[in-house]
Amino acid sequence: MYAFNPHDYLEQLVPLLLELEKVEQISAKGLAQLVKRHAKPNGNVFSKDEIVRGYRELAGTHGIAPFVQSFLKKVTMKPTRTQSGVSPVTVLTKPFPCPGQCIFCPNDVRMPKSYLADEPGAQRAERNWFDPYLQTYNRLQALHNIGHLVDKTEVIVLGGTWSFYPESYQIWFIKECFRALNDFGTHDGRDKIFQWYEDMAEELKKKDILRTNSPKQNQKSLAELQIDGEAITKTYNRIISEQYTAPEKLGGFDSYQVASWEELEAEQKKNETAAVRCVGLVIETRPDNISEAEVVRVRRLGCTKTQIGVQSLQDSVLNLNKRGHDVAATRKAFKLLRQAGFKIHAHWMANLYGSSVEADKIDYEQLFSDPDFCPDELKIYPCSLIGSAELMQVYKAGKWKPYTQTELAEVLSHVFKVTPQYARLTRVIRDIPSQDIVEGNMLTNFRQIVEQSLEEQKIIPQDIRSREIKDGIFDPKDIEFKVSEYQTQVSTEYFLQYLVPAEKVAYPHRTSKKIPGTEKILGFLRLSIPKEQSFISELKESTMIREIHVYGTVVALGKDGTSKAQHLGLGKKLIVRAEKISQDAGYKKMAVISGIGTKEYYRKRGFTDGELYQFKAVSAK
Ligand code: SF4
Repeated sequence: MYAFNPHDYLEQLVPLLLELEKVEQISAKGLAQLVKRHAKPNGNVFSKDEIVRGYRELAGTHGIAPFVQSFLKKVTMKPTRTQSGVSPVTVLTKPFPCPGQCIFCPNDVRMPKSYLADEPGAQRAERNWFDPYLQTYNRLQALHNIGHLVDKTEVIVLGGTWSFYPESYQIWFIKECFRALNDFGTHDGRDKIFQWYEDMAEELKKKDILRTNSPKQNQKSLAELQIDGEAITKTYNRIISEQYTAPEKLGGFDSYQVASWEELEAEQKKNETAAVRCVGLVIETRPDNISEAEVVRVRRLGCTKTQIGVQSLQDSVLNLNKRGHDVAATRKAFKLLRQAGFKIHAHWMANLYGSSVEADKIDYEQLFSDPDFCPDELKIYPCSLIGSAELMQVYKAGKWKPYTQTELAEVLSHVFKVTPQYARLTRVIRDIPSQDIVEGNMLTNFRQIVEQSLEEQKIIPQDIRSREIKDGIFDPKDIEFKVSEYQTQVSTEYFLQYLVPAEKVAYPHRTSKKIPGTEKILGFLRLSIPKEQSFISELKESTMIREIHVYGTVVALGKDGTSKAQHLGLGKKLIVRAEKISQDAGYKKMAVISGIGTKEYYRKRGFTDGELYQFKAVSAK
């Protein structure tokens, strides 16, 4: 583990920190020059991580001011990472067979299905043996080291089809994520876990089983098994079963990677009041894996949001791409997830085999015009041609080709144009390393290109992400309230927002002081008024708060602050407004799908704990 000790560099670090303290702001270039002036004795410069560690260690000594957050902001590497108000911690499950046969999906046997070994997040996971504790702890450490607050985190579990992993593995995986959050800052269990994996790998090596004790080499040898010259000789599922799952069994991984519901619940309980709380937990799965029982089970794990692969709303396209489920399955999944109060994060694909630019535009519109769908968030994945995917054969046969950049821009512009205010376009392009793409778009900044083109056409995107306040400064007297309503198959949805007109928001820390748009969003609440009874008995006769989000750079839990969005009591005001709407609709109680780490917040606002949800009595009219 990395052992940088600031006390070994006092002679260089103290003057560097004192100089940095004097300036109000510093550009990247200015910071680079400063660290060069105060280089280490061997000529190497301090990394930002080391500067932050040094400051944390030395603040209050050597004439350096006691710890102040504004100091950290000057050196924080990626300030936008936490501007949504919550620090995301993404973790990957281990490689495992997937029930899907989708022709566009990469078959990289070093990774869980659909991920590629040279994606940065995937590399992090691999270095950590795909272990949830190691991944979570190390991610928190990395965010903390570059100056971010991590007291409110959203844990995003990616990889393959979650619902297809054994239940015992799922419970263990989530329990270990919670354990890492609970340990962070008080106890470091990483060395013990690393040691366990290395010892097991050593054992397997002795028995002449594939694995070495280096995750990198293990992964490399797995990849070599699959490719013979240019030809892919074995399917992903077969390699994973033979070379990963079977050796893991021999090594005792499956008896290590197991936990009971009681063990999970104990870690969840601790997290309710921990210093690092899980305010949201996300898993990704397929529509045909969603059933009433699955929804309840996922909720019991502590999930608040589900990423779900929609990909297309045309059965013919789903069939051609061997998705293995139809649109009816997607309709049913949306219905069950919404009835259980989940936030629905849909994955939709452009440029699939069997589709076209015009067909894509119509398909995307249907996501919002058809009340069976109406997702809350979206990741748009234009289909990329990856060497290991079955789509290569279709491409070689001349039956499919990737869109040109102009065609892709046309579809994505349309996506921005028709996405309503209540939905968030989290991503419009997948950041696939260009060396993995055989042909097609390799620009990962395509979002900016499309946004610029929309600006030139004077089209203002309305989706949530385009309107987020980010680091904007505003006067609280300019805040406006807006409520909009839309229908889904099982509910009337209310989308409540606090906004500030765009012309009233300033961005003093940016080169461009104004950001285009008509309004900036400070916070919102999603309220569902059901049209029929939910299959979850405790939700009967109740409305449902599916999400509350207040923007602003992350602030410490429980601290009073300045004019940033999180300090204005907007969350509380949104709850009051939701209660009034529930009351007007004739309901006597309101539920919330709370994250484990937000339970205390809701208790303080009059909610009491149910079995899977929290409830607030709605006063009679
Ligand atoms: S279900 Fe998802 S992970 Fe599985 S093959 Fe299809 S796209 Fe890939």
